[in-house]
Amino acid sequence: MHNVGSELETTYEGIPASPGIAIAPVHVIARGFSSPEIYEILESDLEAEQQRFLQALEVTKRQLIELQGKLEDLSGDNESGIFEAHVMMLEDRSVVDRVLLAIATRLQNAEYAFYAVMQNFLEAMRRIPDPYLRERTSDIEDVAQRVLRNFIVDDDVRHQTPQDRHVLVAYDLAPSDTASMNRRHVLGFATEQGSVNSHTAILARAFGIPAIVGLDAAVIDIIALTPSILDGYSGKLILHPKPETLEHYRKLSLAKEKVHSALDAMRGAATETVDGRALTISANIELVDDLPLVKRSGAKGIGLYRTEFLLLNGKEMPDENHQAEVYARVVREMAPHTVIVRTLDAGGDKLPVEPLTDPEPNPFLGWRGIRVSLARPAMFKEQIRAVLRVSALGKVALMFPMISGLSEIRKSKELVRRCMDELDKEQIPFNHELPVGIMIEVPAAAICADLLAPEVDFFSIGTNDLIQYTVAADRVNPHVADLYRPTHPAVIRLIKRTIDAATNNGIWTGICGEMAGDIRLTPLLLGLGVEELSVGPQQVPRVGQAIRSLSHAACAAMADEALRHPRSQGVLDLSLSLANKHYPELLD
Ligand code: PEP
Ligand code: MG
Repeated sequence: MHNVGSELETTYEGIPASPGIAIAPVHVIARGFSSPEIYEILESDLEAEQQRFLQALEVTKRQLIELQGKLEDLSGDNESGIFEAHVMMLEDRSVVDRVLLAIATRLQNAEYAFYAVMQNFLEAMRRIPDPYLRERTSDIEDVAQRVLRNFIVDDDVRHQTPQDRHVLVAYDLAPSDTASMNRRHVLGFATEQGSVNSHTAILARAFGIPAIVGLDAAVIDIIALTPSILDGYSGKLILHPKPETLEHYRKLSLAKEKVHSALDAMRGAATETVDGRALTISANIELVDDLPLVKRSGAKGIGLYRTEFLLLNGKEMPDENHQAEVYARVVREMAPHTVIVRTLDAGGDKLPVEPLTDPEPNPFLGWRGIRVSLARPAMFKEQIRAVLRVSALGKVALMFPMISGLSEIRKSKELVRRCMDELDKEQIPFNHELPVGIMIEVPAAAICADLLAPEVDFFSIGTNDLIQYTVAADRVNPHVADLYRPTHPAVIRLIKRTIDAATNNGIWTGICGEMAGDIRLTPLLLGLGVEELSVGPQQVPRVGQAIRSLSHAACAAMADEALRHPRSQGVLDLSLSLANKHYPELLD
């Protein structure tokens, strides 16, 4: 599919993960050893650049031979054989020639040309079924990394670097990469791995960065600095766009901006259906830096504060005082609205609270969420105390993630009670009636919602996890993305069951999973009876406008029919029919 050296427009398809359009040259990050900087060289510098590569190889060879000598002195011939193999690798003509050719044809700097050739080579090796050969990939990565370190930097070369605005194309991005991304430079990103409900995609939507995941291209084949358009609405990455294509996307961008401005005018207006049912539209946040975005969105509170992102700067949760300071900022900024602080939900695809000695075979079914907190009561108490302390400053609620049964709630509440006693003794003020809620995101909790409801003040359905656990399809694995269906009959029945249990016990139910921000599904969720939708800050105005356009009675009738429907697509179509009827202009 790729057109090496040509300027033909090429389109790659992926899964749309965050809406929007980005037009900029691409910057590529593959996997394995770290990617060097990339820039274009002048044709006149070509030979010098090839020479720089050959020099780096020579230096590396000399180092390896030296190492080999040292090792022979220490431990005999056997061990040093490894280095012999490494030196041979560097003399492999097929690799050397390919790098020289890549420098000449792609006019890329020598480091990057070498890196790209090695990545291709490594990808091919990773696909070999022989485990011995596959293991050798780490040897090759080591040698390649060593060569990269040995390039002498040519300070005279003027080059374009990713400091400029670009579309990032990566094999994969961890949530921490995305959270720390330079948002002024990265106009959009596309990854080969990942799926719509990974935390990386959630962050992209929160930041308003257009994104595509599960790209049908080998990222390493994409040439850096190629002009591109990233269409986060349809999931397309277009390289070397034709002038007509560029024109089309510029127009589309303008049209979308118009819808945006119209929505802006309604920001902060009451979110009530045409027949008078009020819903709270609040926002999900990961970082305190997002608060201005949330305030601009008109959100009526924070429905989910993902505190695990406090781990971004280290492996340990900040102490009680530090947490209290951060939470106080959120509470003060959001007043008079409620802030729901979710206790640490480390693990799964998120930041680990501490590295485990043995890697987990199934991280999503393992050391995650409330399980970690209950096993670390001292750390858990610090977080609870911090939340209690800021409850004196404004409306605050506490929420526990990954609850799978009654005993986890009881143990957690017991710790809350102990923290309250301590604070009373220390004469530190807090809200003695602090609302305590739980995430419903494990099917066991949804099925037993009637048993859990009497214990808590509210439910918040975490559909991201609820879906993955219900249909047994990993939320970050693109190979099973097709099975991950928010409108699966089992999922909507669990949502209904949860809401009914809450209503029978006089408590409210919200949804804070990504499904809440998908306006194709607003009629369905409204009809099922949710009272709060907590969504990414960018989605707040849209979801609010969708609510204002709908009738609760019509949605409830549709939801009744949807609950009897046997297929996900049928359920989606029912919801979409109302969405299309009442707010076609809002749908992407
Ligand atoms: C969820 O699972 O739907 C949720 C909101 O929690 P998280 O995405 O942080 O796991
Ligand atoms: Mg979750």
